[in-house]
Amino acid sequence: MHRTLIQPVIRYGYVPFMLLGVNGAAVALAASGASKLWLVGLLLAAIGCSFAAERALPYEQEWNSPAGDGGRDVAHAGVNELLLLVSVGIIPLLAATVTVADLWPHSWPFVLQVLAAILIADLGITLTHYASHKVGVLWRFHAVHHSIKRFYGFNGLMKHPLHQTLEMSAGVAPLILIGLPLDVASALAVTVAVQLLLQHSNADYRIGALKYVLALNEGHRFHHLKWAGIGDVNFGLFTLTWDHLLGTFSYDPTRRFTSDQLGMAAKPNYPTAYLAQLAEPFRASGSCHTTGAPTDDEVLSAARD
Ligand SMILES: [Zn+2]
Repeated sequence: MHRTLIQPVIRYGYVPFMLLGVNGAAVALAASGASKLWLVGLLLAAIGCSFAAERALPYEQEWNSPAGDGGRDVAHAGVNELLLLVSVGIIPLLAATVTVADLWPHSWPFVLQVLAAILIADLGITLTHYASHKVGVLWRFHAVHHSIKRFYGFNGLMKHPLHQTLEMSAGVAPLILIGLPLDVASALAVTVAVQLLLQHSNADYRIGALKYVLALNEGHRFHHLKWAGIGDVNFGLFTLTWDHLLGTFSYDPTRRFTSDQLGMAAKPNYPTAYLAQLAEPFRASGSCHTTGAPTDDEVLSAARD
């Protein structure tokens, strides 16, 4: 299809395709009790769509090209998604041992059960993310995710595995306590990965006024601004509900983002290799620095951009 024809399709169709199409397929597969391998295949297809959309309609052309980070990001994504798969696999064991009371609404339509799980998980994951910007020891691990210098879908899967485990545990623990079924957990795992791909996407898609409600890329770019304090906004994973309540919602329609505004001003020399990033939180240099606030020139420059 000609580029001028496909671009509007991606601009307005990419998010509905991923949120309703891919997530809908995950819900249908999980509800039917199909092999979990189908969900893995669906996730790989979603990653392929993420890259394709970014190439057809990039927000920033430069962010489509690896900057020495391609192999590392594949390693992060591979390890973290494998970990997610294992975590889902042990849910029946956890459910059998730690479920306090089976309060789960098993009689609800399956899609509503998944939506309920998303909304509850959104609270735990968002609050853990918020705490990770405020508590030094948590920031050490979350800093890996904030070391990015370009903003593209795969960044969403680029996290320290211990930090991902902590966030997911906080999101899923309340669900397991009330009897989260395995099939709902499987669908939830896919929706989390899809959300991370969308939230960090370099595709220049539009969602209209929904950007004030759903935690997608237009808002999440503000979260990756490199200056201490400035990026402490829009923590939500699925929705911005908690940001509106915490007073951390931020959006400026005129703002334009470039690579030199991303990352961590206080840690310009953060390690870039995979194993070095895994080790960094345990090193003295991985501690929280107090420097990194924007200079007056940078604030003025950012205001002009
Ligand atoms: Zn963050």
